[in-house]
Amino acid sequence: MHIFALAFGILLFSITYYYHTRDYNIPPPENMSSLRTIKTILPGIEQAEGVGATVRRSIGNMKMRNFSPFLMFDHFSSNGVGGFPEHPHLGQETITLMTKGAFAHEDFTGSKGVLREGDLQFMTAGRGTVHSEMPVIHPDGSPNVGLQLWVDLPEELKEVEPRYRDLKTWEIPTVEQQDGKLKVRVISGKSYGVELLKELAYTPVQYYHYVMKPGSHFSQEIPKDFNFFLYVLRGKNLVLQKNRKVSQYENVFFNPDGTCIVGDYPETERDELEFVLIGGKILDQKVVQHGPFVATSRERIQQAFLDYQMARNGFERLRTWNSLISRGVTDEMVDGELNGSLEARENERKKFISKWKEGVIDENC
Ligand code: FE
Repeated sequence: MHIFALAFGILLFSITYYYHTRDYNIPPPENMSSLRTIKTILPGIEQAEGVGATVRRSIGNMKMRNFSPFLMFDHFSSNGVGGFPEHPHLGQETITLMTKGAFAHEDFTGSKGVLREGDLQFMTAGRGTVHSEMPVIHPDGSPNVGLQLWVDLPEELKEVEPRYRDLKTWEIPTVEQQDGKLKVRVISGKSYGVELLKELAYTPVQYYHYVMKPGSHFSQEIPKDFNFFLYVLRGKNLVLQKNRKVSQYENVFFNPDGTCIVGDYPETERDELEFVLIGGKILDQKVVQHGPFVATSRERIQQAFLDYQMARNGFERLRTWNSLISRGVTDEMVDGELNGSLEARENERKKFISKWKEGVIDENC
């Protein structure tokens, strides 16, 4: 009798145990977020670039040739006259974010201006453009620092006309969470219920600029068909996806598997931590790149070189264009032709301020 009772007990326990544990084998419903896994973490490698400028490159080098749709990612710095005098681009879009100081830009269509701290510029090279990007020199010699990202154009849009779009820092909605310990500038995408819907590039890109104080955490929902990377601008020991620590100048590349990226910045740290989280729709196409020319075939690259040299097929303006800023940016240029004085900027800000959009909604993934 005791044996039967024991056997019955074991049977009952087994059934109960099975029903409890079998849940672990059930995949989560479609709409539930899952953490992206980390593919690799690479440091930005410092190198000379342009004329007298330095960059830390973490995409577009031997270790990470490209990360679709991204072709290059540079953390650049220049404190003198060193910059990027006139040079061509073809077949990609460039996104520049100034994190410190100011850079002037000018292209052969006559477009020109000054980007200052917090501003962005989205440039579509399309069928071909030629431009100059030169630092504004500060009397105290302080550096001009920023990020430049190259995004591949979808094959069917490679031959579009070149265009520029500037995004001034006051146009970017900022979300504050956790009593101001977490700040997110939503440059493109959606975070904590705040969304910027502007179509800034042809290839869909999400771009978030985070600043964290010790003892804060973040949770960012991301689309499935996008590649994402996270680059740390300053600070150390950010714990990503619950178990990986990353620090300044490291770039974290994620696998395209989950739909959520989370991070904890330990209470024990002293300084602020700053990073950008950037994603782009993965393009299923060939990348053939030679310097600033990007195409899907070698023939198109060869054609681009010939067209550039002979100033034809989109490069005709080279025959008459003389770059104003290529040999350095003066105060007269900033106040005059570049329309980039601090006074002009303040007027522009005041005009825009009524459209300012801000909101705080607690929304975790
Ligand atoms: Fe350029």
